[in-house]
Amino acid sequence: MLQTVRNFDRIGEENAFAVLARATELAGQGRDIVNLGIGQPDFPTPPHIVEAAVKALRDGQHGYTPATGILPLREAVAADLRRRYGVEVSPDGVMIVPGGKVTMFAAILMFGEPGAEILYPDPGFPIYRSMIEYTGATPVPVPIREENGFAFSAEETLSLITPRTRLLILNSPANPTGGVTPKAEIETLVAGLADHPDVAILSDEIYGAMTYDGEEHVSLLAYPELRDRLIHLDGASKTYAMTGWRLGWSVWPKKLYDMARKLAVNSFSCVNAPTQWAGVAALTGPQDDVARMVAEFDRRRALVVEGLNRLPGVSCITPKGAFYAFPNIAGTGWKAKPLASALLEQAGVATIGGPDFGIHGEGYIRVSYANSADNISRALERMGAFLAERK
Ligand code: PLP
Repeated sequence: MLQTVRNFDRIGEENAFAVLARATELAGQGRDIVNLGIGQPDFPTPPHIVEAAVKALRDGQHGYTPATGILPLREAVAADLRRRYGVEVSPDGVMIVPGGKVTMFAAILMFGEPGAEILYPDPGFPIYRSMIEYTGATPVPVPIREENGFAFSAEETLSLITPRTRLLILNSPANPTGGVTPKAEIETLVAGLADHPDVAILSDEIYGAMTYDGEEHVSLLAYPELRDRLIHLDGASKTYAMTGWRLGWSVWPKKLYDMARKLAVNSFSCVNAPTQWAGVAALTGPQDDVARMVAEFDRRRALVVEGLNRLPGVSCITPKGAFYAFPNIAGTGWKAKPLASALLEQAGVATIGGPDFGIHGEGYIRVSYANSADNISRALERMGAFLAERK
């Protein structure tokens, strides 16, 4: 009998991939499916970025690069952080990785072990909990509440820290809620963290470019007092519509950087060279495509929120970031996962049940508006008809 280590039993996954597979299967059977389950921009990667990768391939960029990434890309990340947040970061602290997920994988591996506690948002990106469980550490959910606009509560977060807490995972703008944690709350949290100098922070800012209604994304990098224990996670997937390229970057404190580099040497070696050159083009080239995508998401956000609030038994607060709405479906009489499943199987609309993002996700479903306005309108009509019939 093959015997793997016990912890592999604990590794979880993202149900969004299973929903995508089922939606694709139904579509393959001839069903008309609208996919609001998906967490990726529905736009193609901007052409100048694609061209940069093609040029790199033609120019012979076919070999390994340094494990931390090519210097021009690390410099481009540092320049981008200066432009967006006014912060100074040394290119020597920047790691290039194959997707945002790899940063969370590395950070959780570094801090998780039996007896350690790791705080993470619930509802939140499911991989946080899965990886925490894998390391044998104790996952401690930080409840993310609708009445708080799906923002982190500094007070509640700080109250969950114990002497065993090793890592705090933050995510704003957030998946699956679209919540943005306001600056005042972040400042209270940062001030409170001064009392817990042994707690590392992983700040997942992959949706940092997507905020609405003049809401400001506050990067944790803006707080020098956190720098020696802050891991900043970002990447090209969402901002530049590059989910399939697998390109992320992170900023590490000096004392962790070399460990992250060695983990890269021991696993993926480096991100493929043409993709790194595409990243240089993305960060140093015109940003109009990003602005256009965000403006389009903003228009769809209005459509989706208004439409969801018209559905019987559904209420939806206006998300301030990312490209997700997280409607409260408690008034429909349905539990979230059966509702998401029935909407897919019977109404042809893919969404994700809130419990796939944690115990505090019951009573909600995640609706992605990374789909065309026409498709969103069709999906809302179908959801309305379904709920009216199946009260
Ligand atoms: N962090 C959050 C909050 C996400 O929603 C996602 C993707 O859905 C990621 C990280 C991972 O991004 P990537 O595709 O770059 O690995």
